[in-house]
Amino acid sequence: MRQRNILVIGAGPVGTVAALACARKGHAVTLLEAQQRVDDMPRASTTQPPTLEILAQLGLIDEYIRVGLVSRTFQFWDRPTRRLIAEFDFERLRGETPYPYVVQTEQHKLAHMGIERLRALPNAKVLMGEAVSTLSQDDACVKVKTDKGEFVADYVIACDGGRSTVRKLLDIEFEGYTWPERFLVITTRFDFAAALGCCLRTYMADPEEWTNLFKVAGDDLKGRWRAVYNTREDETDEEALADKSVRARLARAHVPERERDYLHLNLYHVHQRVAKRFRQGRVFLCGDAAHINNPIGGLGLNCGIHEAWDLANLLSEEGADLDLYERRRRPLNIEHVQEQTVANKKRLEEREPAQRQRYFDELRRMADDPKEHKAFLMRASLLESTRRALRE
Ligand SMILES: Cc1cc2nc3c(=O)[nH]c(=O)nc-3n(C[C@H](O)[C@H](O)[C@H](O)COP(=O)(O)OP(=O)(O)OC[C@H]3O[C@@H](n4cnc5c(N)ncnc54)[C@H](O)[C@@H]3O)c2cc1C
Repeated sequence: MRQRNILVIGAGPVGTVAALACARKGHAVTLLEAQQRVDDMPRASTTQPPTLEILAQLGLIDEYIRVGLVSRTFQFWDRPTRRLIAEFDFERLRGETPYPYVVQTEQHKLAHMGIERLRALPNAKVLMGEAVSTLSQDDACVKVKTDKGEFVADYVIACDGGRSTVRKLLDIEFEGYTWPERFLVITTRFDFAAALGCCLRTYMADPEEWTNLFKVAGDDLKGRWRAVYNTREDETDEEALADKSVRARLARAHVPERERDYLHLNLYHVHQRVAKRFRQGRVFLCGDAAHINNPIGGLGLNCGIHEAWDLANLLSEEGADLDLYERRRRPLNIEHVQEQTVANKKRLEEREPAQRQRYFDELRRMADDPKEHKAFLMRASLLESTRRALRE
């Protein structure tokens, strides 16, 4: 294999995985990150089985599981009546994957792990505080500039997130839309599993306002919960973040009054967008730079990691058709990630009583039928999309 000179832009979870995968293949890799430190805002944690398979191949799986929480099941609840509707069990995927569960590990832990491994490799460099501001390319190479200097490479993998500078510099359209509501994440020590009897990943439907509950380990490994809510469309950010409305939201998720203290609040804009192109010449878009979606179902980052892995393999294959990256990955994101996350959101927020009941009946039917249960999980875990990628 010919050694390539590869620049990876952005040391989020996708960029660090892309850089590590390329470096382990023997390429000369430079990872450029705009910030001085890794972003540790509460975003992704749910890591699906095919992603765990990739982390295993990168030698990260033991540490990843050690600093996270293994979660075998997820549940759907009806929030107003505090009733369990259906439970899905990843154990049904045994035989399809060595990891029949998800691991809840915060995404900044993955970025830190990747950077630490890269720093130990002689063919990799990690440069923090290097914000890419210009890019040019020709038949021979691609050049990017930061305010500290110029970098020349055979290929650029742009993993610089949803607001990707590289995507904008290449003038690639980010097709799709932004939802009018925002998502609020309340981090709390309140133990929802002990209090409600729910599991570590619980989706609560409510026509007025849904809630999704996730347990993560936290940096101290003592455990904490993230309760995610939609805001009202006409609600201002100030209103959503006000102590009184946060406590009211916790109350609606059945938290008793004396336990409504919280650790952090985060408010996110939510989009469904896919870049019109994933490749332009020597530059590839990967992760959130290529697509963003609402986080219900825990798919966006997982899909980005699958792309990073796929691309590292393609760039290492002598004579590979590099256009295959866009041909394969763009439809996979649209058909497996965009479609599922929009459907997941609809299911939680449905207001029309008969349709709401149909959703509940369908979930119960799928959970009760072994074949349908497994088929649902094959799709929800992205194992189905991973299989499809292998065939293409
Ligand atoms: C509340 C919430 C919950 C989520 N939960 C899940 C989940 O459970 N599972 C899941 O799969 N997904 C989830 N997601 C989505 C997930 O967080 C994103 O898909 C993920 O962050 C994408 O990673 P990334 O590395 O592509 O981009 P980012 O994490 O955005 O990283 C981009 C990096 O690029 C750097 N950068 C930006 N511009 C430049 C520049 N010009 N030069 C150099 N560096 C630059 C940034 O500083 C940053 O470090 C969730 C999202 C939210 C908001």
